[in-house]
Parts: sequence; structure tokens; C-alpha cells
Amino acid sequence: MDWLHPPICLGCDQQFAQTPGLCEQCQTKLASKKIGFCLGCGLPVPVSLTAVAKCRLCHGKAPHFDRLVVMGEYKDFLRQLVLKGKSKSGELLMEVLGHLIAKSKKDLFKGLGKVEVTAIPSPWVRTLIRGHNPAASLASGLAAGLGVRLNLGLLRRARSTARQAGLPKHGRKVAIHGAFKKGNRTAAETILLVDDVMTTGATLKEAAKVLKAGGIGKIVPVVLARTP
Ligand SMILES: [Zn+2]
Ligand SMILES: [Zn+2]
Repeated sequence: MDWLHPPICLGCDQQFAQTPGLCEQCQTKLASKKIGFCLGCGLPVPVSLTAVAKCRLCHGKAPHFDRLVVMGEYKDFLRQLVLKGKSKSGELLMEVLGHLIAKSKKDLFKGLGKVEVTAIPSPWVRTLIRGHNPAASLASGLAAGLGVRLNLGLLRRARSTARQAGLPKHGRKVAIHGAFKKGNRTAAETILLVDDVMTTGATLKEAAKVLKAGGIGKIVPVVLARTP
């Protein structure tokens, strides 16, 4: 069967020995050692600062989140992968990328106590059209990679909202207000809140607010890509 359907890298479509997944070269391209991300806002910072990193703008400010984990910038190769992962056939790619975040950012997941993973719920119409919720597929790979529980029922959509893409900064905050409500109960101390792309962070802040109001101690958003 391998001869008929040779294993193909989900990133570059080249043939390689393992399946399913990303080839060595694609993994190296993604896990850049030269750049880190601010734990407050997710914007790039010099990697020498990553362990405690806060950018100039976040320094001294009360953080919106307890920590923020970003895989990379929304550009070039990662942007291509995000678009592929958000397509109809992107479920497996998102899971593989979730695994990669668990592996390449493992230091940022330490010291968080009992952890569960959840995802920003997608409006059901969009999930139906796409056949999957990319954030949930990513969350599933992350939970498996970290060996922790995936709990997708923690947040529910309270109402449908306008698409965030294309809205101005202030419009995004207004559009997302009241979009989520509390779902399942949990005994977790920290929730890893997964989304595919972070732009202003309005969606993550709104979701974190609902989870915190439900009594969860720490919310750590985990995003695949941060727009500049
Ligand atoms: Zn590849
Ligand atoms: Zn910052």
C-alpha cells in the first residue's frame, strides 16, 4: 500500500519515511530557535528573553493571561500551514501541529498543576461547512502530545457572532462580547485555551473571562500563529 500511497509530508507534500506527519525539514522550519514570543501579548521578542519574556509594551502591566504560548508568526510557511489546516481536509495537519507545539514548547507547560486542554468553539455552521473545528483539532493534538485531558465542552457558544477577520480592532472586541458561556465543570487548575490564530486577542480574552468566572485558576492561551 505504501507503494501506491507513499507517505507524504503534510507540510511540503514531499515523500518521506514516516506517516502521518511533518518531515524533519518542515519541523525545523517551524521551530525557529531565533525567536521567542512575549508571554503577555504574543508578539515576537529576542529568544534570550523567552523564559521570563515580556515585551516593552507589556512590561509592568497587569497581564491579561497567566501565560501565553505562541508557536510562530502568522507569515510565510506557518501561514501556509494555517490556511491548509483550516481547509476541509486540514484536520490531521492541525493535530500534527498540536503535537509539535507540545514538543517544541514543552518548557512553557511546566509548573501549571493539573492541566486540561480546551479550544475556542467554532460556530456550528462553520464547523459543518468545514467538517471540523481547526482549533479543536489543534487542541486534540496538543492534549495527546502533553498526555493531558482534552475537555472540549468547557466553553459553549452563547450566540453567533460576526467573523472576526476583517473587523477593526475595536469592532472585534464589541463583536465577541457575550459570545461564550460556561459548559462542563472541571477540577483542573489550569486550562490551556487553544485557538489557531491570534490577532488582537479579543476572542481569547472573552473566553478566558468566562472560564475564570467559572472558577478556573489559570488560563494559558496556546495559539499556532500570532499576526504581527
Ligand atoms: Zn515537509
Ligand atoms: Zn507583550
